Amino acid sequence: MASDHTGYHSMLSVLLDAVPATALTVDGNGDVSQIISSRRKDAAWMFAKGKNFARLLRLLFGKAAGPLLAACEAAARTGQPARVARFQHESVRGLTKYLSWSILPDADGTMVVCVLDVTESVCLEEEFSAVSQQNAAANRDLLAAMSKLDFRLMDLDQAHKKLSALYRITSVGQRTADEDEVLDEIVAGITGELGYACAAVLLLDEERQELVMKASRGYPPNVRLPYGKGITWHAVITREMVFVPDVSKDPRYIPAIGNGVSELAVPLICADKVIGVLDVETTAERPLHRYDRDLIGSLAGQVALAIAHAKHVARVEVQAVTDGLTGLYNYRYFLSLLDHEFKRAVRYSRPLSLILIDIDHFKRYNDNNGHSLGNEVLRQVAAIMRQACRDVDFAVRYGGEEFIVLLPETNLTDACSFAERLRTMIACQQFAGCEKQPGKTLTVSIGVSGFPFDASSDSELLEHADAALYLAKRTTRNCVMTYPVKQGGTGRPREIFG
Ligand code: GH3
Ligand code: MG
Ligand code: MG
Repeated sequence: MASDHTGYHSMLSVLLDAVPATALTVDGNGDVSQIISSRRKDAAWMFAKGKNFARLLRLLFGKAAGPLLAACEAAARTGQPARVARFQHESVRGLTKYLSWSILPDADGTMVVCVLDVTESVCLEEEFSAVSQQNAAANRDLLAAMSKLDFRLMDLDQAHKKLSALYRITSVGQRTADEDEVLDEIVAGITGELGYACAAVLLLDEERQELVMKASRGYPPNVRLPYGKGITWHAVITREMVFVPDVSKDPRYIPAIGNGVSELAVPLICADKVIGVLDVETTAERPLHRYDRDLIGSLAGQVALAIAHAKHVARVEVQAVTDGLTGLYNYRYFLSLLDHEFKRAVRYSRPLSLILIDIDHFKRYNDNNGHSLGNEVLRQVAAIMRQACRDVDFAVRYGGEEFIVLLPETNLTDACSFAERLRTMIACQQFAGCEKQPGKTLTVSIGVSGFPFDASSDSELLEHADAALYLAKRTTRNCVMTYPVKQGGTGRPREIFG
């Protein structure tokens, strides 16, 4: 407020400071004709009486009086009440005051101006609003802190789950190299630790171009997917993860569980080769989100490694006991097999037989047809042996063109029948180039021995079969011979078939 009329100004200011409410009647000339205030005997109001109201306002408030004058003019012009709700004014004591002005016009130009000191309520309101703003800010900060904490807790929880799953996936390889067990532990870890409804590992059968479900939780068993079918095949073909949050919108989806909502298929890649797919599917209780996509994506590498490791160990184990050319057991493994099976036969008084097979005139075959066709014959003879054997029998490549079949739970008579069947199968096979062999067929000679009938130790079992084979070679070849030490008592080998 700026005023030269210090006395006048001071008086009115004191008045306005002092009274909470005042009503002034302004006559048609614009002069204050009547004052009613909560403190009627106040000299200042008496002084204001008769003064021009507009001038009074200018003196009091200077330029700040503008809105009040404008309100008075508007009220006089329109005949409608006018209001300046929260007029701010600095008192002589330097205090900020808020005055609410109401101007009520009459037809003859008379106005009643009501001035109400609302400082207290405005201050309260301002204070309240400041406090509210502070509260809102504090709430926002709190919410932000809580959500950060929430994220941290969620992160921790998820990191913990991921670690548990990862631990199960990586540690199973230390317990077992069995591929089925490894795969089962992987899907158990993914459903158990991460809480997905369904998980499956499908491995690629390259020959048949099928994805074969090898281990699963929540899915029906024994699923085989032909080339190109489903979200899983899409992951294999593109070598990219396929994330489908809402399967109802994806035509590639094959419903396998009835109530599936989201699916995620991650290709399992090892040494740049896709070996299969890790598939996860969930129901409405837990649709998959981007977080799950990242989580499963980060586990897929370990899953692929665990599977590749199990396959590698299995391959090495097989290589250690088998012959590279024919796939039959090798000589070294045969020795341990013979030892084990013979001890078992002795302990449980069970029969055990051994047949020793040698291809007739194989040198001639090689000379006539070449070594590689000779190898093919060895492979085919091995295949016939596998075909003839029971699951419990052991087919062995003894060395060169010699083979053994160890027959647990088989007496000498049954072993001879088996040997004869095998001899016939080979003799009937049309091997390429066999027309140059004697008799125009490729044949084998077989020596048979059996515990306890004609052998009392594992070495004797082998020696007697070898002796019987030797004699088969000395006679007609293409025949089955035994070494009847006990029966007949001749101690001489006996040709029984051929
Ligand atoms: P026999 O009827 O007396 O058994 O006559 P044979 O010619 O079969 O017997 P011999 O022991 O004289 O010859 C065995 C042949 O088997 C000699 C060798 O060239 C062949 N042979 C041994 N191992 C292999 C192999 O891995 N591949 C091929 N192609 N031939 C082999
Ligand atoms: Mg030989
Ligand atoms: Mg031979």
